[in-house]
Amino acid sequence: MDANASILEIKGIGKKTAELFEELGVRTIYDLLHYFPRAYEQYPEISAPDNCEPGKMAAFYLHVQRAPSVNTRSAYKTAVMDVPSQRRRIRLIWFRIPYIRSLVKKGRDYVFYGRFVEKDNIFYLEQPKIFDPMKYEQLSGMMQPVYSLTKGLSMNLVRNSIRRIFGDMPHDLEYLPDEIRRGNHLVDYDFAIHNIHFPDSEKDCIEARRRFAFDEFFLFTLQMQLTKKQTVMEENTFSFLDDGYMDELIKQLPFSLTSAQQRTIREVEEDMRAPVVMQRLIQGDVGSGKTAVAFLAMLFASHNGYQAAIMAPTDVLARQHYEKLSSFCRRIGVSVPVVLLTGSLKAAQKKEALSVIANHPGALIVGTHALIQEGVDFCSLALVVTDEQHRFGVSQRKALARKGMHPHVLVMSATPIPRTLAIILYGDLSISVIDESPASRLPVKSCVVTQNYRRKAFSFIAGQIDQGHQAYIVCPLVEASEEMDGENVQDYSQMLRSVYDCRYTVGVLHGRMKPEEKNRIMEQFLENKIQILVSTTVIEVGVDVPNATVMMIENADRYGLAQLHQLRGRVGRGKDQSYCIFMQSHGKQEVNPRLEILNQSNDGFFIAREDLKLRGPGDFFGIRQSGAFSFQVGDVYRDMDLLQDAASAAMQIIQEDPNLQDLEHQSIKRRLQRSLPEDFDIQL
Ligand code: ADP
Ligand code: MG
Repeated sequence: MDANASILEIKGIGKKTAELFEELGVRTIYDLLHYFPRAYEQYPEISAPDNCEPGKMAAFYLHVQRAPSVNTRSAYKTAVMDVPSQRRRIRLIWFRIPYIRSLVKKGRDYVFYGRFVEKDNIFYLEQPKIFDPMKYEQLSGMMQPVYSLTKGLSMNLVRNSIRRIFGDMPHDLEYLPDEIRRGNHLVDYDFAIHNIHFPDSEKDCIEARRRFAFDEFFLFTLQMQLTKKQTVMEENTFSFLDDGYMDELIKQLPFSLTSAQQRTIREVEEDMRAPVVMQRLIQGDVGSGKTAVAFLAMLFASHNGYQAAIMAPTDVLARQHYEKLSSFCRRIGVSVPVVLLTGSLKAAQKKEALSVIANHPGALIVGTHALIQEGVDFCSLALVVTDEQHRFGVSQRKALARKGMHPHVLVMSATPIPRTLAIILYGDLSISVIDESPASRLPVKSCVVTQNYRRKAFSFIAGQIDQGHQAYIVCPLVEASEEMDGENVQDYSQMLRSVYDCRYTVGVLHGRMKPEEKNRIMEQFLENKIQILVSTTVIEVGVDVPNATVMMIENADRYGLAQLHQLRGRVGRGKDQSYCIFMQSHGKQEVNPRLEILNQSNDGFFIAREDLKLRGPGDFFGIRQSGAFSFQVGDVYRDMDLLQDAASAAMQIIQEDPNLQDLEHQSIKRRLQRSLPEDFDIQL
């Protein structure tokens, strides 16, 4: 088959199906081959129900003596079937599948496959799939790919379509020179494609994954280097007075800057006066004071008659920046307009904001993605700050930069990576690192606990609130779910009201609320009108309420450590001692050693690395570290060494053949052209 041919060429794919695939971004044979599984199902050997371990996937062989009974009165229409056992109560349970009776017939033999769990001394095989025993034998031990689907597209269809391509594989998929492939011990492309979809063994799957992670990093670095080379350094057309304003500003801050902050703001100021415009990344752990530095740079621009804008990844965060910046301006007597522009503004407010942006040089502008939309006309934009960059793509960053007359660009990131990696990943930016926290700040005291500690935890939280502080409680779910165990914000907040006899005001925050609602809740929390905020992880990014001194994270074992660390960063932001309680899920008797790492360190990078060490290579499609950087297969923490190797291979090519003109690099060039985003502005 021709890699560029439409998937309509595949037997079994008609127009309708092709449209569904299109929703997943799959148009060609090539696309489908590169539509990688998001996970694998591994069917375990059949085991005796009595010997199964809770928490794992299991398969039972059963001769059915009585068909499942369906409880039609329950809202979920559960069906259950008891499993004969000498030792314990074991049942199969299906949710929301009332027709299960017609699938499981009395007197027949089946294999049932599902998750084995324990609840209140009863053992369940949850939502088991039903197999003919012969069929199951064939599958057991094999790894089956699991793809993300869209409504109307079945798993089997995707699997079969890919298998069909395998029958007539396109040639010439390999594009890496032999030398690079051998030098880095990479499997060849064909092998990799086969084994990422239908691995013969776990080991082969890991090799396939390693190959594609290398490719991703390699192509990324090439792109980055080519862009850098072809981007003309834009001339700095702005001029800044030498009137000591920055020193004045710093004196008026309610705190003294750390030396890392001072160094960074000097670097920024120097950049803003340099012959070419600034392209700088400020990297620093949560709470290290990046936003404070950004505000200083913005005020500096404004003082010199230019606009400065800061773009935040969420509405809540934008609003918070806006409040902070406004109140700082009021306090130091700066009278330029501070404007907020987000998606949740009412039409009249939006019009007003747009008009200030269009007409008021020197205005300070705070917003979300709304800032890069059509109809936003800046009149003298000299500085663009993007907060928490990893949530924005490079092209969004560029879109905002294009809005001005080549403004200075400042990017802030709390994703902890060492400098060597930052240089690769942010190759087009200069880097400042804020590597110390404000001295007034006490490190957060953490503890990992089991359910036995719950009462103590609640009274501890009450103690903090009685001293005038506030608390966050983080739950993984928005509402009760049949499919997933875990605390949910709805029931939890009810429960808290009764635990505390309504002594405290409890607020709820989650991602399904409207932005206006979220803002209202955050405002109330900020004003201490809410003492306990029960939230999902939406509070993760950037939110700053220094009076909150305690956080309790429910079902802490569910999260990646890097994410837990980010969450913990919401407390310990004021002068008072703060605490973080990691509460493990029900049924966990011992403290998880993985979580213990959080007790040992407050260093985000150390935590991310330790986490991976503990997990080992088998868990390669597990929890993603942070969602940072948009690689599909590679993970900058786990695959750090691979990233370094791939980057140096790419750099070497660029050095020897800057425009990819050599004959042996033509295939690389074609491969690059394939993956460039449409708006990518490099010429090949
Ligand atoms: P980041 O953006 O790195 O997460 P912020 O700039 O939001 O950190 O700072 C976190 C909190 O610490 C804010 O309340 C801020 O006002 C305060 N802060 C910033 N720098 C200092 C400092 N040098 N000393 C004391 N407090 C500071
Ligand atoms: Mg911040």
